[in-house]
Amino acid sequence: MHVGRLFTNCRLATMNPALPGLGVVPDGLVAEDGGRIVWTGPARDAPAFDAHHVDDLEGRWVTPGLVDCHTHLVYAGDRSDEFERRLAGESYAEIARSGGGIAATVRATRAADEDGLLAGAAPRLRALMADGVTTVEVKSGYGLDLDTEMRQLRAARALPFKHRIAVVTTYLGAHALAPDADRESYLQSICERAIPRVAAEGLADAVDAFVETIAFTAEEAARVFEAAKAHGLPVKLHADQLSDGGGAALAARFSALSADHLEYAGEAGVAAMSRAGTVAVMLPGAFLMLGETQKPPVELFRRHGVPLAVATDLNPGSSPIASLRVAATLACVLFGLTVEEAWLGMTRVAARALGRDEVGVLRAGARCDLAVWDVGTLAEVIAQIGPAPLWGRYTRGEWD
Ligand SMILES: [Zn+2]
Repeated sequence: MHVGRLFTNCRLATMNPALPGLGVVPDGLVAEDGGRIVWTGPARDAPAFDAHHVDDLEGRWVTPGLVDCHTHLVYAGDRSDEFERRLAGESYAEIARSGGGIAATVRATRAADEDGLLAGAAPRLRALMADGVTTVEVKSGYGLDLDTEMRQLRAARALPFKHRIAVVTTYLGAHALAPDADRESYLQSICERAIPRVAAEGLADAVDAFVETIAFTAEEAARVFEAAKAHGLPVKLHADQLSDGGGAALAARFSALSADHLEYAGEAGVAAMSRAGTVAVMLPGAFLMLGETQKPPVELFRRHGVPLAVATDLNPGSSPIASLRVAATLACVLFGLTVEEAWLGMTRVAARALGRDEVGVLRAGARCDLAVWDVGTLAEVIAQIGPAPLWGRYTRGEWD
């Protein structure tokens, strides 16, 4: 059988759910053609291939390219002053109420053009790629008016033309209320103008909202979700981060792809997420940087069989962390995830949180996005904070 490329002599962590754990294949082989995996498994079981290229990976570990399923990486401005204010004792909510927080990034983002947004996002994106990330989700939510939200989404959609990475976009108009905005008319404009336009122009793959005392109520988010569903867009939710606002249950009610944060989620909400198949996305970066103490109920997620993903929440305020590996390290240390949960959480389960089954896993038919690691065990990748032990990243038919 003729294929484009063969990857031989490697240890695969396929993340294939048909296999236990990380789906490890000790002496593995991957055959790629046209950017897709056409065959993978133990080398001894492989059919006879002839290939244009053969890459002998000399026994290295190969995982799917990593998937960062929750970022806000397209924005302008800098909020390190808030880091100092928080150190001096102000809370995130207090800073938000005094015109800082999301509103500060909104002012800077409204003033930036699409090229400026792209240029600003580039170093953050390169940092994620250096960690082996091949798919990244990018949210809007720093415009809070139709034009800027659309510009953010267009910039996110343009990233793959300049960088070798796949981007999934999420419209997050319901991130906060702009200081000058009227609550009811803004919600109306999200539901009646923004969502129809974003859907018609194909600018977003999903719709997100922030349910919190400093953002929107569960009832308001439900209106946004009704509009999203009416336009065929799946939903996700920033839920129960700083207080129990009924976010987990709301996400489940709308069969959300994911509910994210969830520090204050209770058992009824977790059980509802389980029934709905909603992924719980752990965002330990924000927990760390805001000095939070309430941890997400990881044991409840396990007991109810809710799949766990891990993401950076990369943003300029509460989680300025451009490393998915470090997010995984923090998820293990701060929230008690196992190494296996963290690995699945930044590959297969992260892909599920985006509604994508063609990434985050190595199996026939999946996109051939590979991260190759210079380590003895996969625990090494997340057991240290420092340079990524990444040997190579393969995507779109090329090595970096
Ligand atoms: Zn977020």
